[in-house]
Amino acid sequence: MLTQVPVQPKSLQDYRPVVGDDVIDRLYALAEPLRGARVVHVNATAYGGGVAEILQSLVPLMRDVGLDARWEVIEGSDEFFNVTKTMHNGLQGMDVPFEEEHRAIWVRYNRLNAENFSGPYDFAVIHDPQPAGLHHFTAGKPARHWIWRCHIDTSAPTPAFWEFLVPYLNGYGAGIFTMREYVGPGLHFPHLAIIAPTIDPLSPKNRSMSSDEARRVVARFGVDTERPLMLQVSRFDPWKDPLGVIDAYRLVKAHVPELQLALVGSMASDDPEGWSLYDRTLRHAGEDFDIHVLHNFHGVGNEEVNAFQTAADVVVQKSLREGFGLVVTEALWKGKPVVGGRAGGIPLQVIEGQTGFLVESVEACADRVLYLLRFPEERARMGERGREHVRRHFLITRLLEDYLRLFLQMEGQSA
Ligand code: UDP
Repeated sequence: MLTQVPVQPKSLQDYRPVVGDDVIDRLYALAEPLRGARVVHVNATAYGGGVAEILQSLVPLMRDVGLDARWEVIEGSDEFFNVTKTMHNGLQGMDVPFEEEHRAIWVRYNRLNAENFSGPYDFAVIHDPQPAGLHHFTAGKPARHWIWRCHIDTSAPTPAFWEFLVPYLNGYGAGIFTMREYVGPGLHFPHLAIIAPTIDPLSPKNRSMSSDEARRVVARFGVDTERPLMLQVSRFDPWKDPLGVIDAYRLVKAHVPELQLALVGSMASDDPEGWSLYDRTLRHAGEDFDIHVLHNFHGVGNEEVNAFQTAADVVVQKSLREGFGLVVTEALWKGKPVVGGRAGGIPLQVIEGQTGFLVESVEACADRVLYLLRFPEERARMGERGREHVRRHFLITRLLEDYLRLFLQMEGQSA
């Protein structure tokens, strides 16, 4: 047995007021022919990261509609996770070496986990490259249907990594990717699904929070709630361009001197790149005390991220490269238009001039932020549209529906 992750029960009924009766009734009806289906999701970690966050909600909702769903994590160790981090970077196109020893470690752990992976299941959903060898090393025996869910951008992978992985992937009955462009070369899945990630509107990070409560929370971190606030929430990662955000803020501040900026970023204790970019961000901010650079070690958890997103006047996500950009979804859901980099999944969410603005430079970013600060009514209108856009396309109920439809297709039933 792999390690099972406990999840709190959830009821789809609670989502009725958020997404409407039609959606909920459709979900129960779709799930009916799948009642009792044994489903397992397998990934590498129970905590931290978008996949864990999604499974925490998706698995209990699958149970609620009658599926026998569970979530298991594979066994790993530092040597394995170092290899899979390298693979993650290489598969996203970073030019890093992939040594024979790396391959051997990946194979060893996948073989070991395969020995511990027992069914029977109707559907095994394997998330990301870490456990991707499970189908091969179990010879597909524990499950009737195998699905590989890719959460990363494998549109232009470094060949050594891709050539290694593809033979393990082609045994799967279905592949799921966030965007069509992310489907790497040479893959042949009988079923291919393009499914964007989603947020849970009832989770602590996304539940509705009054502006009073949000203001109280951000005030604790030194933000003056009487003055405008510009916000970016993201890891301290060069692709998220925190230094560019500071530059844009400075251009805006020349016109709006009372403006404040919060850069909120989570930090893994073992991520040296994160710390060094955090230091550079602080240096770039210098003596400007209207710039608040915060991370999880300051006590910024899910509720606090919610509060910052709820309290902000304008949210930016100036990514130069992006997977999907869940922070954009989260901000739009709180009724904030987003000024976002034209990268990855951001354009799926930020509809130019409707739910925010897409930008490709510091100057354009500053210009759009200034516009939104100057026209609060327009800001509110766009924010409302952003929330509706998320309600229709990027809530967990839609993800559940997409999975149910894929399961039905794989069973040969029309969905
Ligand atoms: N996040 C957080 N605290 C932080 C920074 C980020 O909880 O200080 C969360 C954020 O709310 C989002 C996720 O981390 O849910 C980041 O997902 P996204 O797709 O935006 O970017 P990634 O980090 O996966 O590239």
